Amino acid sequence: MLNSEDRQIITNAIRDIKDFPEPGIVFKDITTLLNHADAYATLMTHLHERYRDYPLDFIAGIDARGFIFGSALAQMLHLGFVPIRKKGKLPHHTVSESYDLEYGSDEVEIHVDAFRGKHDAKVLLIDDLIATGGTAEAAVKLINKSHGECVEACFILGLNFLDGEKKIQPLTNVYTLIGVD
Ligand code: AMP
Repeated sequence: MLNSEDRQIITNAIRDIKDFPEPGIVFKDITTLLNHADAYATLMTHLHERYRDYPLDFIAGIDARGFIFGSALAQMLHLGFVPIRKKGKLPHHTVSESYDLEYGSDEVEIHVDAFRGKHDAKVLLIDDLIATGGTAEAAVKLINKSHGECVEACFILGLNFLDGEKKIQPLTNVYTLIGVD
């Protein structure tokens, strides 16, 4: 678990941008964490300590901010990194999974050979934030459809009032560092 001092350092480094990308949304801006070397190191050290003894084969990150934390952690743990991208961005053959948005739907994709043919590859999924949980739910399903096994989904921030974790809990373990009320 994150100690209160480290939680404060990480929380203080994340900026709230009101009414972005649309009125009524408070956007959690992690760029101010990334450009703060000490806060970024505090976060990555915590993640490294949590996951260094997990039996993991790959880390998968969700487009786009999940790539930043996921690939940094993959290097620290000497694991391969797999991007889960929005529809139409990956160049090779893909497996896809759609999910509902407030209006309409969206789709995420993974390369068919993302786990290098390793059956039941143990995968940690990571993203910066869980809101409704729709994106992460689709990402977990995608990992499982690609013959991987999502052993945990990790988020730096969770919007408690949207209850997104409940959507993922039937599918995999969930670890959210900081809940936002
Ligand atoms: P959801 O599918 O509703 O859980 O949305 C999660 C995705 O949208 C993540 O990839 C987040 O990066 C992004 N997201 C949703 N809400 C916010 C927010 N308030 N601040 C920053 N990112 C957000």
